[in-house]
Amino acid sequence: MKTLHTNSSIDGLARGKAFIVRRDSTLGHISVGTIDYELKKFSSALLSVREDLSSLEGDVFAAHLEMLEDPVLTEQVENHIRFDGMGAVEASYSACEELASMFNEIDDEYLRARVDDVRDVFGRLIAALTGSSDNPFKDIPDGSVIVANELLPSDTAAMDFSKIRAFVTEKGSVTSHVSIIARSQGIPALIGLKGCLEEINDGDELLVNGTLGTLVVNPDSESSIQFDALLAIGEKTSEMISAAAFGRAVSPDGKEILVYGNAGNIDEVRIAIERGADGIGLFRSEFLYMQESSLPTEERQFEAYRDAARYCSGKPLTIRTLDIGGDKALPYLNLSKEDNPFLGFRAIRISLKRPDLFKTQIRAILRSSAYGNVRIMLPMISTLEEVKKAKELIVDCMAELDNEDVPYNENIEIGIMIETPAAAILADLLAGEVDFFSIGTNDLTQYIMAADRGNSDVASLYDPKNQAVLRAIGMAIDAATKAGIPVGICGEMASDLSATPILIGLGVDSLSVSAPSVAQIKYRINTLEI
Ligand code: PEP
Ligand code: MG
Repeated sequence: MKTLHTNSSIDGLARGKAFIVRRDSTLGHISVGTIDYELKKFSSALLSVREDLSSLEGDVFAAHLEMLEDPVLTEQVENHIRFDGMGAVEASYSACEELASMFNEIDDEYLRARVDDVRDVFGRLIAALTGSSDNPFKDIPDGSVIVANELLPSDTAAMDFSKIRAFVTEKGSVTSHVSIIARSQGIPALIGLKGCLEEINDGDELLVNGTLGTLVVNPDSESSIQFDALLAIGEKTSEMISAAAFGRAVSPDGKEILVYGNAGNIDEVRIAIERGADGIGLFRSEFLYMQESSLPTEERQFEAYRDAARYCSGKPLTIRTLDIGGDKALPYLNLSKEDNPFLGFRAIRISLKRPDLFKTQIRAILRSSAYGNVRIMLPMISTLEEVKKAKELIVDCMAELDNEDVPYNENIEIGIMIETPAAAILADLLAGEVDFFSIGTNDLTQYIMAADRGNSDVASLYDPKNQAVLRAIGMAIDAATKAGIPVGICGEMASDLSATPILIGLGVDSLSVSAPSVAQIKYRINTLEI
């Protein structure tokens, strides 16, 4: 028996047999032809991968196709063939490592996680060049724990999840593709378990504890019995939690609390609704912009919002307008470098300076409001004037659509995020101008405590449950309640089970959380005691 440990894991318990995925990372001997020959070989591999990707459905594969079309990728490989004496295969391996390390250095967690996509695209290219495109998951036995160096989107696309109990990988982080998939499939995962491939053999008995981040290989009978007892408790609790997902969440004093989902794309909207969310409390529209290499057109945005509205089938879909700046970059906007990006040109400040950009988005949102219960939410508000100006632009868009005879919901609700100290302090004035408040505790905490949300050196100050933050939250809730408008929380604090009684006690009407937390939060609300 051996026990291994990692700090990066996705919650849950599983027992299963190891199914090891080994990739041959050595090149072996591959003969190199003339430059022309190798260039041709590369371009026909490109063509065949392009065809494969075009035939697959899903946002991930559309993003891979786009990556493949990027001249930076092809030039990098072709230059290695032309100038470094490499064959197409070696050139692809080298370009892959160079691009992957470039992404790894980016100071943005979301973009850093795109390393998986780079490796995946090159994996396909190399498979096409070497003619080895076997699906390693074809004969996977029921009850398997997948153990691999890393797992890429094309791997998970080929998997039958009903046979998989858990993932264990040597590489990756909690924002890697494998973590996202584990969370959305409700499968536990141990990520970044260095050296595990040396410790585990195919078919070994594995006990995966994603909650503690531990892996037991070939357990002795005592560990095995203890783990089964844990599994039994886990199953009982998760049955009760799952049962709460599609019901109403009611606080001990009889008030219904809506539990919404947070989403960054259409798949996440669908998953949240499928997991019992009462609607979408935060659709982070900036991810739609970040996936593109130029501003998405009105039509492209309209289609995305309309599809999301359809998934919500009558439940609220709260679309937050572009929240770029701070830690979210949009390179093609060519914004100047700032010394204090979190205190700078971001979110609504950009939208009001660039009405062309804002109006394109508002028109798309308004058009989608004809297909569901769509709401508009303005991020990073700090003055009353910002709200008034944004509303004027929204009214302009409505007039344009009237002239064009395009349908939309004239009574669309317009709300704001309370995520700056100014907005919390002015909440009583702001409440008179809008239909709802949503408190963004991620930013509100960093601005109230003057502690960067991404800086681990000040992590002890960055505490949403600090008295100062709670007072700001309380001010916003009181102002909303007095004005008779609903108020919710959409920051990560809403998913924190230890914060639930505090937030309910302060008087929130809704909590907007990540999809897998919907059932847990509803269960938590229903089992609170006064
Ligand atoms: C927040 O600030 O709490 C929030 C929900 O917005 P984001 O995390 O996208 O900045
Ligand atoms: Mg925010």
